Amino acid sequence: INQRVIKAEKMEIVSHLASSMSHEVRNPLAVVRGFLQLMQVTTVSEKKQREYLSLSIEEIDRATDIIQNYLTFAKPSPENAVRINIEQELKRAINIITPLANINRIHIGTKLESCFILGDPQLLQQCLLNITKNCIEAMPNGGELFIETYKGNGELMIVISDEGEGMTKEQLSRLGEPYYTTKGREGTGLGMMAAMQIIEMMSGKLSVTSRVNEGTNFYIRFPTIEKQA
Ligand code: ADP
Ligand code: MG
Repeated sequence: INQRVIKAEKMEIVSHLASSMSHEVRNPLAVVRGFLQLMQVTTVSEKKQREYLSLSIEEIDRATDIIQNYLTFAKPSPENAVRINIEQELKRAINIITPLANINRIHIGTKLESCFILGDPQLLQQCLLNITKNCIEAMPNGGELFIETYKGNGELMIVISDEGEGMTKEQLSRLGEPYYTTKGREGTGLGMMAAMQIIEMMSGKLSVTSRVNEGTNFYIRFPTIEKQA
């Protein structure tokens, strides 16, 4: 009986998510369509054209982001859990965000150890990117993003910290709430929700500390496994 209840609940969640995802993806698509149509039916200056194109790209990225973060829920258990080399995965994530960090004059400092955990590497990447992107976005005037790992007592701790705008107690308490964003149209409010879901799926724990105008620290803990398990 328990099994069926859980399954029915899951189905309900998935169908609810599917409908909110299609609803949300429709907005950026409509915006892109509007720009394309405008360029089709009227002659617009080259300057305007470039503006419309870059806005369209932003909207498409937004749609991709929404789909990506909703997908986390579509496959709620990490069936393809494998041994993950954390140092390697963090380096991979750092490579991906480096261009974005450079544009924003953000230096990335690291202190990484080799360590193994169990989980889905793709989901872990998504989690790391969602968190580090927020850190970069919290430092519009540049700064340092620091990524460290510590291991001990069968546990790995990843610490991701920024020197950004930080959060008030109230903002911090809403972190991870679906659609909670302080970024207006630029934000989706889905990034932390997905990151938290992924950490939980991988038997991890997240804690966050933050100070307004000083920065934010994300502490992610995972159980470690032996290297030649
Ligand atoms: P989005 O980035 O689309 O706004 P998220 O779920 O990724 O959605 O983040 C939700 C909100 O949490 C952000 O809008 C921001 O207010 C806050 N936040 C998340 N990470 C940080 C951070 N590193 N520093 C300051 N605020 C943050
Ligand atoms: Mg975000």
